[in-house]
Amino acid sequence: MSLAQEKIIQLNDVKSIQNVKVGLYKIPLKEVLSDAKHGDHTHFELITCTIECDDGITGTGYTYTGGKGGSAIYHLLVDELVPFVKQQNPNRIEKIWEDMQYHLHYVGRGGLLSFAISAIDIALWDIRCKRLEAPLWQVVGGNSFETQCYAGGIDLNFSKEKLLKNIKSYIERGFTQVKIKVGQKDYKEDIARIKAVRELIGPDVEFMIDANYSLSASDAIRLSKSVEQYNIRWFEEPTLPDDLEGYAQISESTSIPLAMGENLHTVYEFNQAIQHAKLGFLQPDASNIGGVTGFLKVAQLAYANNLPICTHGMHELHVSLMASQPHACSMEVHSFPIDEYTTQPLRLVNGMAQAPDLPGTGVVFVDELITPHLVIES
Ligand SMILES: [Mg+2]
Repeated sequence: MSLAQEKIIQLNDVKSIQNVKVGLYKIPLKEVLSDAKHGDHTHFELITCTIECDDGITGTGYTYTGGKGGSAIYHLLVDELVPFVKQQNPNRIEKIWEDMQYHLHYVGRGGLLSFAISAIDIALWDIRCKRLEAPLWQVVGGNSFETQCYAGGIDLNFSKEKLLKNIKSYIERGFTQVKIKVGQKDYKEDIARIKAVRELIGPDVEFMIDANYSLSASDAIRLSKSVEQYNIRWFEEPTLPDDLEGYAQISESTSIPLAMGENLHTVYEFNQAIQHAKLGFLQPDASNIGGVTGFLKVAQLAYANNLPICTHGMHELHVSLMASQPHACSMEVHSFPIDEYTTQPLRLVNGMAQAPDLPGTGVVFVDELITPHLVIES
């Protein structure tokens, strides 16, 4: 019997989910980081979900927050989703994903539920990859083992001097693409900061801005027109993610392409945004779009609409998803350093992020590093 036949038999063989362990961690940031809509971030929350099958194979998934809502996600998992998935066949990922959506659709569509589903889905993909003895980037597409990436600063509260020092540190670490926050009280300050960063990095470094949906459409148009000369690759979340007409209006009024996705938590929301918001880039986040399964559905939507995908957050997992896809554009290397609590912090080689080659997702948390931050576990 060939190795491939053995693997197919392994996957078809009925297994069941026996135990699921959930943990909530509150991890402090090294310094306070601010953006225009969420204010100060002092820590982030990590919610882990480890699934054990009856044959002993385990997989770990997770999601994260900007510091709020983690307890609700933890209890959604422990009280609702874990009892629902126990005894199910872990190989039938699409079925479990679909069933979880409709189990709590009435109360949870697109909200905290999307985060909770993500944690379970990622654990199931970890298990699938381990059964196949292959890394995630190969199992979900295999386009490449590496992806372009950028340093995503959360730096609205930094003085201009500190902002420039921070950008310089990104370039020294090997980044060739950077992003800063905008949305200062006086928009002229945003313009001055953008001008200073472009002068610092020169013409060859890709440069993006992100307002965290803090501006009205008309204010976004004013800012966008004022900084077109600085060659901004994209303007991220200029206004409310629900105001798709506002996005279209901004897009038609300026030459800077628009990006969003971190606040679109269903595949249908992405579809609506693609149809109506005139976006240049899509930014799904596997931690809140339903894990690897949700991410791949958005990636296919993007492909069919000739849109490149970028990502938001959790770069230690997204590196494998982005590497796997032919239309991946640039992965955000986020300022919440989840990867520093894993066995394989992100590898940057010649400005490219390289996916882990371990069987599974490659995201393995180090107990000694995260346990001091444990709030509650099941
Ligand atoms: Mg953003």
